[in-house]
Order: sequence, then structure tokens, then C-alpha cells
Amino acid sequence: MGLSGKTAIITGSNSGIGLGVARELAKAGADVVLNSFTDRDEDHALAAEIAAETGTSARYIKADMSKGAECRALIEQAGACDILVNNAGIQHVAPIDQFPVDKWDAIIAINMNSAFHTTAAALPMMRKAGWGRIVNIASAHGLTASPYKAAYVSAKHGVVGMTKTVALETAQEPITCNAICPGYVLTPLVEAQIPDTMKEYDMSREDVIKNVMLERQPSKEFATVEQLGGTTVFLCSDAAAQITGTTISVDGGWTAL
Ligand code: NAD
Repeated sequence: MGLSGKTAIITGSNSGIGLGVARELAKAGADVVLNSFTDRDEDHALAAEIAAETGTSARYIKADMSKGAECRALIEQAGACDILVNNAGIQHVAPIDQFPVDKWDAIIAINMNSAFHTTAAALPMMRKAGWGRIVNIASAHGLTASPYKAAYVSAKHGVVGMTKTVALETAQEPITCNAICPGYVLTPLVEAQIPDTMKEYDMSREDVIKNVMLERQPSKEFATVEQLGGTTVFLCSDAAAQITGTTISVDGGWTAL
């Protein structure tokens, strides 16, 4: 298979998009390293399940992406990193003058700074191996803004900027760096926003999904974790060798508006 012999590290991958991306990379033959900040039996069971389904090797390594040293240790502990998917992310919604400082710091650390640390640790391994792919899971909010999401929008715009910079620094090497910008995907991160939004707008779940969440997504459909996994596999393919320093939107037309 296309990615056999490659090791892929996906940060924040015991849930949602990261897990979907890990599954698709494993289906394409990559040995995957799952990650989150917990160390539960079910985290390791997810890796065992992927290994059993795909016949590839899959491991789970605990590391807290809010801490620079742990980001770097994740890469070192994995021992190899041909494909790095920076995916770990959290959200908090509040007006900027009421934005809790600890939430701001955590979002900037997990959603943006972690990609700096993992990339810095992974690049020497990619250079030694003579091949590398960095895929940053940014967001439509890396290209456009929404009110009350100052930290998230700032972090995701930062990730898009970092993506371009890393692409320029590796442009003459067999390494690419790109960002995927999803619109709304129905994952636990989004699911958690539904009850508050129902209360805020006094709306049913269906109305929140259609009239609030998917209001800016012209397709009126959520993107899926499989589609994001497929886009990542494409960026790791030979066909994508000259695609670097750019963003690919998987947002049902959101950023075309
Ligand atoms: P999710 O909550 O399902 O997954 C987030 C993952 O990050 C989980 O595995 C979680 O354990 C992990 N994580 C959180 N804090 C961590 C930490 N300190 N250290 C290590 N791991 C940590 O959410 P998701 O929707 O799958 O989000 C994944 C990424 O996709 C995020 O970067 C998010 O911003 C981005 N994104 C999501 C959407 C969407 O609509 N769901 C849209 C655009 C971008």
C-alpha cells in the first residue's frame, strides 16, 4: 500500500478528526501513533483496534500538547516521524473582554504552539529519512473569523502562517507542509457546543445545526472525519509532492462566500 513503511504521528487522535485521520492513514498502510493527554485502557484499545483492522502497527503515546517539552517528547518517543499531523485542539467561546486568560493560554498552547514544538522535533527525522509530510489541521477559522472565538481564530490563523513558513524553509527538500481547513465536522468538540447554543438561541437541536452551525456552510452538510482523512492521505501521496505551503478547504463552500 501507498504509505507502508511510513510512520505517522497524529496529535489529539483518541477522538474526532484525529482518530478519523489516523484510521485513513493506517488503511493506506502507514504505522500510526495515536496521542492524547490521557492514559486510559480505551486509548490503547483504539490503537489495538486500528492495528487489527489494518494489519499495520498502531501505538498510543500519552503526551500533553499544552506543554512544549511533552510535544517534543512525543516525537522522540515515537522514534520515527515521516508524517506529522498536528490536530490536537480545543475551543472556548466568549467575548474578548470577558475571555478567561487561562482558556486563551490553553487554546494558543494546544492549537498553535504544539505545532511549533512537534514540527521542530520532527523535521530532523524527516530530513534524515529523506521524505516528510506535515499536515496541520487548521480550520475555516484559519482563513476567516467569527465573533467570540478570538483565541481559536488567532491560533488557527497562526497555524496557517506557520504552515507557509515551514513550507518555504523545506521547499527544496522532499518535505511538504500544508494546512487542511475544515468547516463544521460533527465531532465531540462540536457536539459540546450544541446544548449551550440551544439555550442561547432558544432553539431545537435541529435548528441549531441547520440555522446556526451550518448557516455559513453552503452545502448545509457537515464535513466528515473520513473526508478529512482522505484529504490527508492525498497530501501524503506522490501526486501532492508539489503541493506545499497552502491550505485545502474542506468546508462545503464556507470560504467561497
Ligand atoms: P475533538 O474534541 O473530537 O478532538 C480533539 C482531540 O484533541 C482529542 O483527541 C483530544 O483528546 C485532543 N486534545 C485536547 N487537548 C489536548 C492536549 N492538551 N494534549 C493532547 N491532546 C489533546 O475535536 P475535533 O473536532 O476532532 O478537533 C480536532 C481538530 O480539528 C482541532 O484542532 C479543531 O480545532 C479542528 N477543527 C475541527 C472542526 C470541527 O467542526 N469539528 C472544524 C475545524 C477544525
